[in-house]
Amino acid sequence: KPVIGVFALQGNVREHLAMLAQVGVEGRPVRRPSELAEVDGLVLPGGESTTMDKLARSFELFEPLQKRIADGMPTFGTCAGMIMLANEITGGIEGQETLGGLDVTVRRNAFGRQVDSFEADLEFAAFDTAYHAVFIRAPWVERVGREVEVLSTVSSGPAEGRIVAVRHDRLLATSFHPEMTGDARLHGYFADLVRDH
Ligand code: GLN
Repeated sequence: KPVIGVFALQGNVREHLAMLAQVGVEGRPVRRPSELAEVDGLVLPGGESTTMDKLARSFELFEPLQKRIADGMPTFGTCAGMIMLANEITGGIEGQETLGGLDVTVRRNAFGRQVDSFEADLEFAAFDTAYHAVFIRAPWVERVGREVEVLSTVSSGPAEGRIVAVRHDRLLATSFHPEMTGDARLHGYFADLVRDH
C-alpha cells in the first residue's frame, strides 16, 4: 500500500489526509526531511505559496523537496501547491521562489479581486461526470510546456478557456481545492499515478 505524504507546514492538511484515506492509501503529514524520505508521493496543499516557500526553507525542507521532485516523486499540487510546483510564476512577491518541476507558467491570484472565490463544474476526460471545483484566490496556468497535458479548463463565464488542471508525467496540479468538496476522484487519480510509479 503506497504512502502519500501531505506537506504539513501550512494549508489544508487534514482535509487532504481524509481524502487520501477515502481512496485507500495511507496519508501522512510531512514536516521534516526524515518524514519526506518515507513517502512514495506527496500532496502540496492550498494555502499561501509565499508562506509555504518561507516555511519550507526555515524547516530545511525546500531542497529535499526540490530533489525528490526532480528525482521523479509523484506530486500533486493544489492551488498554492500548484504555484509551488510551477517552473515559472507571474504575480509573485519579490524574492518568491518555487520548487519547480512542472513545466508551466502560473499566474498567482489570476481570477481577480471581484471573484475572490467561486465554484465551477469542470470536465475531465478521465471522469464520466463533471467535477465540482472550488476556487479560492486561485492561480491559473498561462503557458504549458510541450510535455504538459491540459486536463481541464473553465468552460464558461469570463474565465472561459483558462487552464485549471494539468499533468506533466508524475506531476499533477489543480488551481482549485479538490479536498473541499468530498469528491475523491482526483485523489484517486493521483493514488493510481503513485501506484503505477
Ligand atoms: N493566492 C494563494 C497563493 O498565492 C493561493 C490560494 C490558495 O491556495 N487557496 O499562494
